[in-house]
Amino acid sequence: MRHIFVFQRVHLNNFDLHNHTTASDGAHSPSEVVVIAKRNGCDALAITDHDTTAGLAEATTAATHAALPFIPGVEISVSWAANIDSKATTIHIVGLNIDPANAALQAGLLSIRAGRASRAIEMGDSFAAAGHAGMTEAAYAFAANKEMIGRTHFARVLVERKVVKNIGHAFERFLTRGKPGYVAHAWASLADAVKWITGAGGIAVMAHPGRYNLPVADMTQLLTEFSAAGGTAIEVVTGSHAPRDFRTYAVRAKEFGFLASRGADFHGLGESKFEPGSMPPLPDDVTPVWTRLPEFA
Ligand code: AMP
Ligand code: MN
Ligand code: MN
Ligand code: MN
Repeated sequence: MRHIFVFQRVHLNNFDLHNHTTASDGAHSPSEVVVIAKRNGCDALAITDHDTTAGLAEATTAATHAALPFIPGVEISVSWAANIDSKATTIHIVGLNIDPANAALQAGLLSIRAGRASRAIEMGDSFAAAGHAGMTEAAYAFAANKEMIGRTHFARVLVERKVVKNIGHAFERFLTRGKPGYVAHAWASLADAVKWITGAGGIAVMAHPGRYNLPVADMTQLLTEFSAAGGTAIEVVTGSHAPRDFRTYAVRAKEFGFLASRGADFHGLGESKFEPGSMPPLPDDVTPVWTRLPEFA
């Protein structure tokens, strides 16, 4: 009898490439997020805090300890408008496998963080005008990294004060355009965010495209500009997508030749729909972004 040996590469699939920690608006420390991901059978984890890399050193150490392959990341806040007359939409661009020591990246992130303190004060004024006093001080108490004060910290105060039942309700009644607590803000440009990421050796990924509520034509324009700027991937399976968005953005990824990413967009236990490492798999007909990560190709 002849024996045929089939050598099969062991394929890692449970990549989770979008997660937050207390370095931005996550509720758990970088070490805790690593432990949660490991517990869920995650094969490789990226930490992608908003506009900061402050959590990456702790996460790297914790991941080494847990024998969990780790990808350093970031999620950059961008303001983008389809044309000169339209209101800017906030877009998030994830950078994967960035070098946190890159000076241009750090200067760019610092410039974004710098606007957050003054916005937080204005947000507090807006809440006070709506009858909710002391919101800014209370929000800072929820922010471990004071530089990264953001809307989620205000949302947690509203939950704590029992003004709303949960974080989702906080964003339905407050903190979004036209509602108390919302303050429009100019973040980075799309081109700069992509340039900082690619300049730091990273892969630029458009985060949760299904969340921007853009008309189809504007979304096409956004994806076209992102590609022209050097963006090479979009999130397809993310906790910030409704399940029907998984197919929509798999189709758009193939149409544009984008790689596909997958991540929980985890912020906290009991707060986020998905824990790290617990998302459904990517559809079979897209190319996972991790095929471009040197260690995993
Ligand atoms: P910021 O960068 O301070 O404007 O805050 C943006 C963050 O607010 C996002 O990264 C989410 O964590 C959170 N956020 C925005 N909209 C919602 C929503 N509808 N439900 C839950 N969290 C939201
Ligand atoms: Mn967030
Ligand atoms: Mn985001
Ligand atoms: Mn996120």
